[in-house]
Amino acid sequence: MNENRNANLSLYKITKRYGSFTALNDVTYDFTPGVYGLLGPNGAGKSTLMNIITDNLKPTSGTVKFDGMNTSDMDDDFRKILGFMPQQQGIYPNFTLERFLYYMAALKGMKKKDAKADIERLIELVNLGNARSKRLGGFSGGMKQRALIAQAMLADPKIIILDEPTAGLDPKERIRIRNLIAEIAFEKIVIIATHVVSDIEFIAKEVLLLRQGEIIGAGKPYELCSKISGNVFTILAEENQLADISKQFKVGNIAKDEKHIFVRIISDKVPQGYKYKSCKPDLEDLYLYYFD
Ligand code: ADP
Ligand code: MG
Repeated sequence: MNENRNANLSLYKITKRYGSFTALNDVTYDFTPGVYGLLGPNGAGKSTLMNIITDNLKPTSGTVKFDGMNTSDMDDDFRKILGFMPQQQGIYPNFTLERFLYYMAALKGMKKKDAKADIERLIELVNLGNARSKRLGGFSGGMKQRALIAQAMLADPKIIILDEPTAGLDPKERIRIRNLIAEIAFEKIVIIATHVVSDIEFIAKEVLLLRQGEIIGAGKPYELCSKISGNVFTILAEENQLADISKQFKVGNIAKDEKHIFVRIISDKVPQGYKYKSCKPDLEDLYLYYFD
């Protein structure tokens, strides 16, 4: 048991070019079991990286290794230990949930008997017991995402790659998916690509910040956040100061109560001339700092 505890997925100098455009530049990183957040705005290269990790796309240069072996040489052996939820996934509208999962299990090379037990377990895990015989075409956004997560979990994969798993979901469904991911992550390498900080803020062991194809920072969330400690403030503002504040500073959350407006800002200097207090940076602040 627990032979996966020392599993290691390692990216070495991954570069991807499309003609003269560099989508990924020299990405090197080591993953061990735990949840990782790959955070960056649209166009940063997240999906490109996920498609390379899953061997659906060849890098221009660089290698992906699992436990020391080149994944592109592992072929089916790699596919068997991998679960992938791509960003764009053709969902089969006429398949029932059960049929979809059996179909995906067959593609993974699972025997029917193993598939049956696994599918039963996963349908319950993602809380779609009532929908097992319903067609995917009639599923809500949240149900579809959960069905796709379930297929990524088939055959107890050692590596799970989820590309924007909460896209298009309402806040309640987001929370549900987030909790589900935290639950399934035990002793697996889980990598979640997202531009939504709250998707990973409290479940990621480490966060990778990806900007224009490069990792510009990576590590434990509190370590990353400590880089901007002293740079986050809340200003107690008047309505007529708001325009001026957003001209001068990167503005995060704006909160109002009956009498006051609280404006969270990121700034290298203290906001002189305003009533302010210092705040402890969080991942949202860090995102604004790097990507706004
Ligand atoms: P993300 O998932 O972070 O939004 P992508 O990995 O999808 O980013 O895209 C990264 C960049 O690479 C974008 O600028 C995108 O336009 C470009 N890109 C992606 N696929 C191709 C392709 N097949 N040909 C040319 N450019 C591409
Ligand atoms: Mg993407």
